[in-house]
Amino acid sequence: MKPAEQSHPGPKADASSCELAVIGTGLAGLAATLFASEKGIYTAQIGVNAGIIHASGFLDLMGVHPIADGRVWENPWEAIDAVTTDIPDHPYARLPQADIRQAFDIFMNLMKAAGLPYRYQPDANSRVITTLGTLKPTYGVPESMYKGTEALKTQKKCLMVDFWGLKGFSAVQLEEMLRDRWPGLQSVRIAFPEVGPSVDLYPEKMARALELRTHREDLAREIRPHLNGAEIVGMPAIFGIYHTREVMADLAALIGADVFEIPTIPPAVPGLRIKEMMEAQIQSKGIPLFAQKRVLQVNHDNDGGFVLDIGEPATQSISHRLHAQGVILAGGRFLGGGLYAGRKKIVEPLFGLPVFQPPERTQWHCSQVFDPRGHPVNMAGIEIDDAFRPLDDSGKPAWKNLYAAGAILAHQDWMRMKCGAGISIATAYGAVNAFAMNARP
Ligand SMILES: Cc1cc2nc3c(=O)[nH]c(=O)nc-3n(C[C@H](O)[C@H](O)[C@H](O)COP(=O)(O)OP(=O)(O)OC[C@H]3O[C@@H](n4cnc5c(N)ncnc54)[C@H](O)[C@@H]3O)c2cc1C
Repeated sequence: MKPAEQSHPGPKADASSCELAVIGTGLAGLAATLFASEKGIYTAQIGVNAGIIHASGFLDLMGVHPIADGRVWENPWEAIDAVTTDIPDHPYARLPQADIRQAFDIFMNLMKAAGLPYRYQPDANSRVITTLGTLKPTYGVPESMYKGTEALKTQKKCLMVDFWGLKGFSAVQLEEMLRDRWPGLQSVRIAFPEVGPSVDLYPEKMARALELRTHREDLAREIRPHLNGAEIVGMPAIFGIYHTREVMADLAALIGADVFEIPTIPPAVPGLRIKEMMEAQIQSKGIPLFAQKRVLQVNHDNDGGFVLDIGEPATQSISHRLHAQGVILAGGRFLGGGLYAGRKKIVEPLFGLPVFQPPERTQWHCSQVFDPRGHPVNMAGIEIDDAFRPLDDSGKPAWKNLYAAGAILAHQDWMRMKCGAGISIATAYGAVNAFAMNARP
């Protein structure tokens, strides 16, 4: 990063200036933008689709610690206490628990208001059914999936349905895996309305199809003869993209039994729903969103702010220049390109920040793929201070007004610890608050 020639940070966000620029449109970036707008901070956002469209829709807070022991926690807050004691640099250690709770409450309220309600118990994880038929601990459960969790608990008579042509989702496998815990479970494979048995099916297309009532009527007609006394029907997550509550209610009425969803393999509809809903919120608030664009280069301007050159990822051609007083870097890890794994080391390509990582590439991975300790490379990332500012080589904040949030942060293996969404939401909240205190005292 080098000094820029121009500097015009303006008080309002428009296509050329803002108070806060959020880099990344994953869960952390989207949450940061919404938190910032709640605080009246003029924000702009830039990013390309990445992790979120693959996500299951579950919002994990903290489920497993220590990873090597595979200890599953019923109470995520106790798990956070344990993890921040054992790993003092874990991102959760940067926030009081009250702030993490507040971040979740605000986020859940935003989701509810936008028509994508979640269910959660304040002090307990729920055990949710995964695509594989295993149970995993999570905190926030989409309403469309919560009924399955309850039905398992109360042992409702259930029929699992899958479809000819839909890969990676098997009702028979769910039945086999859950049979011991759920004796009344049955399964059936049927044809999806309007398509023959030999056609490949994709969850997003199926979800879009079910937004139409006539397809729901056809689907219900297919399912009804197989009910065999079932009180509830489990299906892959395909209950619409924009009107999930309505699709669910209508399907239940047409079938004559409750319905619930189970996540599919990525790319998955529940992640897409979150993305679409959050982006719609951002656009409805008039926040400039440079969708499907990347920040190609950042320069430092004369009064402590930043100049972001934004453009096409494919051609690397710059189409916009944005001035920002502060930046939240929420670029994710390798999938979104927030970090880049070179032949010898992992780098942060945009600001050139130091990356916490194993000293040698040979130490990135354990020799066994399924090593219960997890791989050291998954703890790699940017180190921050208590104000979410990335540190330079000397351990001091690299830039006064640069903050980081989400999966890009070091000292957490979100996949194994089951804390992906939690880290994204909580650190986005922390970074926005830190910017608000630091840049707008
Ligand atoms: C397959 C899969 C399943 C998951 N399942 C769960 C789950 O069950 N429960 C759970 O809690 N979490 C789950 N997650 C994780 C959850 O989505 C994480 O919280 C998330 O991936 C981390 O979010 P993030 O915003 O930090 O990073 P990402 O989602 O990786 O987003 C980073 C964004 O930054 C953008 N970016 C990077 N560099 C630039 C740049 N220079 N300019 C502009 N944009 C840039 C990327 O394009 C991307 O949009 C899952 C994730 C995946 C991939």
